[in-house]
Amino acid sequence: MPKPKKNSVKDAVAEWRKLVTSSTKKLYQLAKEAQTRSYSPYSKYPVGASVRSGRQFFAGTNVENASYGATICAERVAIVTAVAAGHRRIDEICLVTSNSEGAAPCGMCLQVISEFSGPDTKLWIANPKEILGLYRLKELFGFRFTKKDLKLKSKQAQRR
Ligand SMILES: [Zn+2]
Repeated sequence: MPKPKKNSVKDAVAEWRKLVTSSTKKLYQLAKEAQTRSYSPYSKYPVGASVRSGRQFFAGTNVENASYGATICAERVAIVTAVAAGHRRIDEICLVTSNSEGAAPCGMCLQVISEFSGPDTKLWIANPKEILGLYRLKELFGFRFTKKDLKLKSKQAQRR
């Protein structure tokens, strides 16, 4: 019987650390800088995000609003900035919060990330001190509503 691995958690961490490239470092730096520009007077929860589309990088920060509902998260600001610049594919994302253990994107952001990326898109989770981990979109958002679902529904609607 094989012995269980002693350092499986450490091995998992070492595994994602091998995937940190110079573009990951640039992505992290941009997200970290964006966090310092956060407009979050209500939550006092500054967030920075960045996305890479091919060789292009875009950053975003959370922008809150007195109405609360008009608030937009850092990830979506970064993505809409990329889309406004003509990019339709997100290859890699970095999210910086001040949480010591990091934080995942909210559900609304996962839906928007999903629109422009694939199941294996890398999501780096970080705080201002360091990169804390790597997730694939499918790990955080496994069963997604996508444009494929709309095509199915429109075909059904045409049959009626
Ligand atoms: Zn969000």
